[in-house]
Amino acid sequence: MDSNDRERLKRDFVNGRIPFALDKRVYHPFSERDVIFSRVWWDKSFLAFGRRISEREIEMVDRKGYSRIGYAASSASWMVHNNLAREFQRVKTGNSSVANPYVQDQASSGLPKYESVDVNLTTDRIKRLGQIFGACDVGVATIDAEEHFVYSHNRRGERINLSKRMKYVIVMLIQMDYYALLTSPRLPASITVGNAYSRAAFASGCMAETIRNLGYQAIPSVNSMGLSVPLAVLAGLGEFGRNGLLIHPKFGQAIRIAKVFTDLPLTPDSPITFGAVNFCRLCKKCAKFCPSRSISDGEPTWESPWDTPSNNNGVYKWYVNADTCYDFWIRNSTDCSNCIRVCPFTKPPGLLHDVVRFFIRNFPILNRIWIKLDYLMGYGKSKEADKFWTSETYLNEKVTR
Ligand code: SF4
Ligand code: SF4
Repeated sequence: MDSNDRERLKRDFVNGRIPFALDKRVYHPFSERDVIFSRVWWDKSFLAFGRRISEREIEMVDRKGYSRIGYAASSASWMVHNNLAREFQRVKTGNSSVANPYVQDQASSGLPKYESVDVNLTTDRIKRLGQIFGACDVGVATIDAEEHFVYSHNRRGERINLSKRMKYVIVMLIQMDYYALLTSPRLPASITVGNAYSRAAFASGCMAETIRNLGYQAIPSVNSMGLSVPLAVLAGLGEFGRNGLLIHPKFGQAIRIAKVFTDLPLTPDSPITFGAVNFCRLCKKCAKFCPSRSISDGEPTWESPWDTPSNNNGVYKWYVNADTCYDFWIRNSTDCSNCIRVCPFTKPPGLLHDVVRFFIRNFPILNRIWIKLDYLMGYGKSKEADKFWTSETYLNEKVTR
């Protein structure tokens, strides 16, 4: 690939003709060991090495936006994820292991293996099941031969050898509570984040178990096994946002991602474009309201502007500084969703919002108007966490910055 190829890919990406621009000479599959949540436990060069997000709770509990109940619920909201998803981490990723409950070949019910005669019908039913298990949208992607978006290693540094039979990944989106998100970076927002991760673990666990009961292999995962955002993009569920997260055409960024890798034959979806990348080039709202300045406010780049192992060069995108983001979470004594909160795509459903999305998709020339209006209407402003707890009509309370 020469510089002309890069230029062509850049153009196609920003104009929404391709879902992402990948320079295959530079890009290589990423190791989960380099994800910030792994590095915090092994990388002594990381500024927050060995530090827990919860370490300042005693000091913060009585401050505005924090509370005893808030911390209790925030921690509890992760309970299902932390029990179930840790189990997922133990999966073997070779051909099969009957000894391992998460990878098996045989239908467990005694019924014969399910024969997928009509793959489209099977896919429709799997998607419907995903909704029943808690997803607001479901898509299917195929794993490419080079496994670009499958992790090369797991958190413990062990090589991931995904069976070549596991050609498909079912991607499920789990919606977060928009009104709780509005209190970010304070505790109610963290509760909906943990809750969504727990529901993601539940949904992927149930989906994988269903597929195993049909006699096929299935590996459930939330953040493990592969890069959720590009897999969701491939599965036709949205576009890359400036802040590195998925933008869904209806739910914006108020979503978390669950995945199931499987050999059950399915019909893959195609990536979609609805003008989000183009909108991000002008908007920059997440970069402006990021308290740790971890989001780039320039054009996308091929290399990370920050020297951190948590970024993987060779993709033309907006890189995010996960090191400073995580450091803010520690100082804030809980996680942060400011970039999700302020994103103009993160809005509750409504006719007016649908109309604006139509214009963003079809008439990008008007994008500046929507960005201005978004500010004028006060969307994405932080709401007081205390009012979230005390008022049934907190939605109408005075907003604060
Ligand atoms: S989560 Fe918060 S600190 Fe991290 S990038 Fe988003 S806005 Fe910035
Ligand atoms: S806030 Fe604006 S720039 Fe950031 S992801 Fe959302 S649309 Fe893109």
